Amino acid sequence: MTARALHWFRNDLRLADNPALAAAAEAGPVFCLYILDTGPDRRAIGGASRWWLSRSLAALGEALAAKGGRLVLMEGDPAVLLPRVGAEADITLVTWNRRYEAAEIALDRKLKEDLSGNGIDVRSFNGELLNEPWEVTTTTGQPMKVFTPYWRAARQKGEPSAPIAAPPRVPALPLPASIEALTVSLDDLGLEPRKPDWAGGLRAAWTPGEAGAAARLDDFIGSGLSGYAEDRDRPDRAGTSRLSPHLHFGEIGPRQIWHALHHARATGEAAGSERDAEKFLSEIGWREFSHHLLFHNPELASRNYDSRFDAFPWQPDEAALGRWQRGQTGIPLVDAGMRELWTTGGMHNRVRMVVASFLIKHLLQDWRAGEAWFWDTLVDADTANNAASWQWVAGSGADASPYFRIFNPVTQGETHDPRGTYVRQWVPELAALSDRDIHQPWKASEKTLRDAGVQIGENYPAPLVDLAFGRQRALEAFATIRSR
Ligand SMILES: Cc1cc2nc3c(=O)[nH]c(=O)nc-3n(C[C@H](O)[C@H](O)[C@H](O)COP(=O)(O)OP(=O)(O)OC[C@H]3O[C@@H](n4cnc5c(N)ncnc54)[C@H](O)[C@@H]3O)c2cc1C
Repeated sequence: MTARALHWFRNDLRLADNPALAAAAEAGPVFCLYILDTGPDRRAIGGASRWWLSRSLAALGEALAAKGGRLVLMEGDPAVLLPRVGAEADITLVTWNRRYEAAEIALDRKLKEDLSGNGIDVRSFNGELLNEPWEVTTTTGQPMKVFTPYWRAARQKGEPSAPIAAPPRVPALPLPASIEALTVSLDDLGLEPRKPDWAGGLRAAWTPGEAGAAARLDDFIGSGLSGYAEDRDRPDRAGTSRLSPHLHFGEIGPRQIWHALHHARATGEAAGSERDAEKFLSEIGWREFSHHLLFHNPELASRNYDSRFDAFPWQPDEAALGRWQRGQTGIPLVDAGMRELWTTGGMHNRVRMVVASFLIKHLLQDWRAGEAWFWDTLVDADTANNAASWQWVAGSGADASPYFRIFNPVTQGETHDPRGTYVRQWVPELAALSDRDIHQPWKASEKTLRDAGVQIGENYPAPLVDLAFGRQRALEAFATIRSR
């Protein structure tokens, strides 16, 4: 007997290697549903993520239509909508891919109970990770706290299963009128900014959707991977995959990446060395580790992992935070990163570490203020990766960078953007300065500044904080909690 299946899309906006969708499509015609979740206790996604989601849903809708399917959109609380939809559309099977954030787990658990209680078969799958958070443990079965042993243990589990192909057809399940009445259009969801439309830079930088993700992966493995182990630290080079938003929204999964990379290496089609490939895979490993941490520490995005930091003497300063957010700190590499973020919804990893360190340490702002800004402005904003990374930089996280490791944004710029190319792109008012002066314009002579058209305090700000003073103040603040 064929089932009346419903696949609930969440952050798995793809057809290929989507185990939950495949199970639904094998069972019968599928009601493909996406719900913009506005239920209680759920953190609303940020502005840049809303833009991405809109484009990704449009792409998914087209891909499903090409397979005889239909993507149905709704808005509201899934805890209310799904049981109603299940009953009124006579659904017999509901499928989804699992999620790992506490509120989402609680919701999924409740729904599983409610739907099963109504006689509906509910089946969940792993569509998001190489290993689910409970699958990698210490030898005594405990959660892991340090990345290197985590990744070693994960690798020892062997190859991830091969990705499964997209279902050949996903015929749409006809819906009763009462369910049609609950559906909304993509436009109704109002995900894209209108007045003002600030998304021009995002449109220019990204191609959301499964096809965009696959093209980016191909391009990266075929050429971008070459030199990755070094270039990944160079914001002045296109040295990384830029797959993070595609991974976050599940337009591509890590099994696909793993196998595509291994296949390309085996057939000689991959650019780069073994070292480049291993380094790249270990970054996918950090993503896995972050999800592991979030699952075992549900409050990772809101509470210090290391509780000593609860007593840290932060100095909340709205004006300083605002200058950081707008890229007006007077520190060129920091300003370049924050402006790249504002314009494109992305920022290079090395620069993320520098701007985060500057905010937390030189400005003594609570890492949660930075996490919240990134949440709103990044197209790849991800509860696990964002929280784990902010806590890593703060020194409050698992396997974190020690607090006394304070990035100097000038030396970081000189090392990782030695010609100032990245700073020139995002801080054009400094473009005419020499490579030597561009990372610390306040040290240049008056004549040099005049010749380059730079007026400190006029067309480019003076540094928000003296770097040596800020560093010393941060170390003293840390000393107050170190012995606790
Ligand atoms: C303060 C701060 C906040 C961050 N917030 C996020 C976030 O919200 N979402 C997010 O996806 N990444 C976040 N990162 C991690 C990292 O900066 C991005 O994943 C990376 O820059 C994305 O670029 P890429 O896809 O070209 O990466 P690549 O170098 O090509 O790496 C491949 C993939 O590995 C994963 N990855 C890489 N580095 C990390 C890392 N340090 N932690 C976890 N996963 C990683 C990403 O999924 C990435 O797409 C943050 C880092 C910092 C320092």
